[in-house]
Amino acid sequence: SEDTGEKVVELAKRRGYFFRSSSAYGGVGGFYTFGPQGAALKGNVEEAWRDRFAVGEGHMEIDAPTIMPEPVFEASGHLDTFDDMLVECPDCGESSRADHVVEDNTEYEDAESLPIPEVEEIVAEYELSCPECGAPLAGAAIEEFNLMFETQVGPGDGQPGYLRPETAQGIFVEFPRLKEYARGQLPFGVTQVGRAYRNEISPRRSIIRTREFTQAELELFVDPEGDGPDLSAVEDVPVRLYPASEQQADEGDEVETTVGEAVADGTIADPWVAYFLGVAREWYESVGVDMDRFRFRQHLAGERAHYAADCWDAEGEVGGNWIELAGFAHRGDYDLSKHQAHSDERFTVFRQYDEPKTVERAEVDPDMSYLGPEFGGDAGDVVSGLEELAERDRAAFEDETVTVEVDGESHEIPVEKTGFAVEERTESGEHVVPHVIEPSFGVDRLVYTILEHAYREDEVDSEERTYLEVDPEVAPTFVGVFPLQSDAELESEAEGIAASLRAEGLSVTYDDSGAIGRRYRRQDEVGTPFCVTVDYESREDGAVTLRERDSTDQVRLPIDDLPGTLSALREG
Ligand code: ATP
Repeated sequence: SEDTGEKVVELAKRRGYFFRSSSAYGGVGGFYTFGPQGAALKGNVEEAWRDRFAVGEGHMEIDAPTIMPEPVFEASGHLDTFDDMLVECPDCGESSRADHVVEDNTEYEDAESLPIPEVEEIVAEYELSCPECGAPLAGAAIEEFNLMFETQVGPGDGQPGYLRPETAQGIFVEFPRLKEYARGQLPFGVTQVGRAYRNEISPRRSIIRTREFTQAELELFVDPEGDGPDLSAVEDVPVRLYPASEQQADEGDEVETTVGEAVADGTIADPWVAYFLGVAREWYESVGVDMDRFRFRQHLAGERAHYAADCWDAEGEVGGNWIELAGFAHRGDYDLSKHQAHSDERFTVFRQYDEPKTVERAEVDPDMSYLGPEFGGDAGDVVSGLEELAERDRAAFEDETVTVEVDGESHEIPVEKTGFAVEERTESGEHVVPHVIEPSFGVDRLVYTILEHAYREDEVDSEERTYLEVDPEVAPTFVGVFPLQSDAELESEAEGIAASLRAEGLSVTYDDSGAIGRRYRRQDEVGTPFCVTVDYESREDGAVTLRERDSTDQVRLPIDDLPGTLSALREG
């Protein structure tokens, strides 16, 4: 419930998970600092993601800069279209997302895809009001607001740069090199875990919508005519799906099915997307997302980017709302074709034919200088625009015209006039633009979801207790080590044990302050799965007390067995 949300945010601040940044200077909306526990949890989640989606799938990971030059975002389309709809309140002056105002207060579910004038009409018709101050918004202008943070690279009038709004472009722009590392063989995947920046109009709900956040993205490059994935590993994975058709039906419902069945009956159209939904479902469960509060929702037609053939979001339920944790899209050749068109590099791979083919190709004179006089210039004038003909099949352009540039002026001429010759060639393959399957995960929202799904209240020894049932695999602190009383010998014994467990690679916290009960409660709230207490008997029996967080059960265990036992518990 919303109530739990508030408790989680309060606990997060008190126990060092996350808190608003720069509060000494009043802070600024949409920026959060992960404290010691939060940074450790987030790091563990990222590591678990790498294990599964990079190492586990045999893909490469890269680490690209977060600032990229303007032409990248001209090509990718972000400069033109990475906008949200902004409405400024005529009364209090606060800006809100117009599509959210509409979606939160009307039956419209996909306001983002509507044209602005229509959204303005809806705002007026439903008498919608400002979420900040409640003043009526009718008549307020709605504008497109580009979400990219702009900066300037270098001094003076240095060239414009942008903080990347997604990690993906750092992978796409390097495709010409990355394909070399993959020896030109499709399919291959490249991952990246890193920061992305969006100047969100109204950041909200703590780390769920911020202006700087971490993404973990995988770009899988596949041959458009190649084989699909081997689904055998995921076909039995149970999935809860909310297809577009159900969302649009009057009393539409989620569907409980399996990946295999959903592919067989066409609910998930794209086998690659289906594969990643299966892998992701298992992975989310392994890091502690409650599967009763998790589903995959298909994008509605209007919500989908025009190039995406099929797109599903992983959603988690927090505070009574569904939030997007990850997106899974088949992006076709959109991204690589854009960069191919805007740059001088080849965003293709060479696909070998089974048998060499004989084809007719145009042989174009690379020096078109003789065309100069035709346009009133001199022989020797630079004529450009014909190079691309060289790669094309004769039949494809026989009756066409082509634009050539002479002396900075464009001219349309019939292709025959370009003096090409047709040559028969035997070719062993062709250049193809790979298609992209993109699973795109948000890390911060996931960290939040893990915390809210792990939040528990119970009663121990007739006292109320709060604890986080965080999965041991990602828990920020794995074991707390305590001396029972404040006693120099017990303390040094306990410190020795802490050191030996750290040497095992476990994350250990040592604590000797306050009553033992309070120390347990502290670790419960942090979500530490185990605690070890050293007492006076330890010297005699060489044993300590091991306590488990959720059950609060305690057992006596020989000190020598501790490292092995705890390491095994960590592996699960
Ligand atoms: P939204 O509709 O919530 O703004 P989006 O559809 O624009 O998100 P994508 O571009 O698909 O999001 O980004 C992929 C993932 O990155 C999302 O699933 C989400 O987990 C995360 N993400 C996106 N924007 C933010 C943000 N402002 N703060 C935190 N995480 C974010």
